[in-house]
Amino acid sequence: RKFKRDLEVQHPTESFRDIGGMDSTLKELCEMLIHIKSPEFYFQLGLLPSRGLLLHGPPGCGKTFLARAISGQLKMPLMEIPATELIGGISGESEERIREVFDQAIGYSPCVLFIDEIDAIGGNRQWASKDMERRIVSQLISSLDNLKANEFGQSVVVIAATTRPDVLDPGLRRIGRFDHEIAIHIPSRKERREILRIQCEGLSVDPKLNYDKIAELTPGYVGADLMALVSRAASVAVKRRSMKKFRELHAASEKNMTTVTLDDDEPS
Ligand code: ATP
Repeated sequence: RKFKRDLEVQHPTESFRDIGGMDSTLKELCEMLIHIKSPEFYFQLGLLPSRGLLLHGPPGCGKTFLARAISGQLKMPLMEIPATELIGGISGESEERIREVFDQAIGYSPCVLFIDEIDAIGGNRQWASKDMERRIVSQLISSLDNLKANEFGQSVVVIAATTRPDVLDPGLRRIGRFDHEIAIHIPSRKERREILRIQCEGLSVDPKLNYDKIAELTPGYVGADLMALVSRAASVAVKRRSMKKFRELHAASEKNMTTVTLDDDEPS
């Protein structure tokens, strides 16, 4: 049985401007991206620019979002796959799927291949209970090495994300593989304020909104939690507005008036 899924090729519109509270990370990434875009300087020194990036951090802290923004920033198409989808039940199936995904990415190069939850296929071979698990990691490593061998003809940037970097096989983190790592942490108060500010950009928000106060009241919230908070606030605003409209209409009908329209002020 072959893995038939053709990876969807996306063209993310996100960029570094959409990411809040990661200033030093973005600076570090800019350097990496410049070398990916123009590798000549590296080649002159007999080096190959790093094109494997490992993002690790707790759920919801923006790993997928950052991968999309890198792709948007590089203006390279993105192919995204959760590593769990690469696992097949029959012997050799997972290795075949990994080979196929990398082949598809090479076919679309230059592009970004994003493998989420890489720990599902990249666990430490020393602790593997089954031979199959060891073979899967070895296949992943050899697919990464093949990309390196094709460097001049093909250009695939591979980004992997995990919440559990501790379980990964050390071989995956060697030079030429995922040799660039970024740890994304739970945002600080100042970073939460930045994230909120960016997430509220373009929304109809009360100009007096105290971002600092909200940041103070949300310790432990990650980007995804703050996004959920903003969406919840937006739906409360919509609900309040419709309640207000409903009361106005009700009062108008009681007085037999028809002056209330439905399209005045915006919710905020
Ligand atoms: P998981 O490990 O569960 O896959 P994740 O780390 O990949 O989580 P994302 O899916 O990237 O997290 O984040 C969810 C959403 O939270 C994003 O789509 C984005 O809207 C918002 N978000 C997360 N971090 C940030 C940030 N730093 N700035 C702005 N928005 C953010």
